Amino acid sequence: MTADSLARALEARRCGAGWNSLCPAHKDKNPSLSICEKNGKILVHCHAGCSQHTVIEVLRSRGLWPQTEPRQWSPADRREWRRQQRYLAQHIRSATLWRRAALALGDAILDGLKVALCDLSLPRPGVGEIAFWTDQLATWDQLDGAALVAEYLWWLKYDPRLTSGMVQAAEHRQTAERRAVEAYLRLAAGAAIL
Ligand SMILES: [Zn+2]
Repeated sequence: MTADSLARALEARRCGAGWNSLCPAHKDKNPSLSICEKNGKILVHCHAGCSQHTVIEVLRSRGLWPQTEPRQWSPADRREWRRQQRYLAQHIRSATLWRRAALALGDAILDGLKVALCDLSLPRPGVGEIAFWTDQLATWDQLDGAALVAEYLWWLKYDPRLTSGMVQAAEHRQTAERRAVEAYLRLAAGAAIL
């Protein structure tokens, strides 16, 4: 991976000696990410405030960052790394539950739109609505690690009530499913003894 191939993968625009692209670590509407190359090293900077570490983690999770990078860890790097790990550990469970609810919700919306497409008595879906939800579901499905947490936190900030409600709903559903499986296993075990 070179700065040039990274820029191409992110569909970045040439800007001076480097490139500008949408930042992959937050919901970016205007290109906030600067990419450049210095002494053979790729440098990235998000002007909207994502840390370099977060941006690199997201790029790495997408296979857009060199996996093995000969580097010396300074004490500050280690501290930053531990801070990031704690941050991820703190949010990854809720983020995973949120994604589960978001996928179920998106699936239901998509189903509704497809039904409306065939049933002429229902209002027709707007142009691009089905494509939008299909894309959105594929994006959520692929999110992982730092990128998943970043997406979840964006939604949490954008709509705290809906987002935490979705986490709760997914949690209740998970508990109900676990209990059902446990009850089923007890039933199966009972049947095996008889
Ligand atoms: Zn960013």
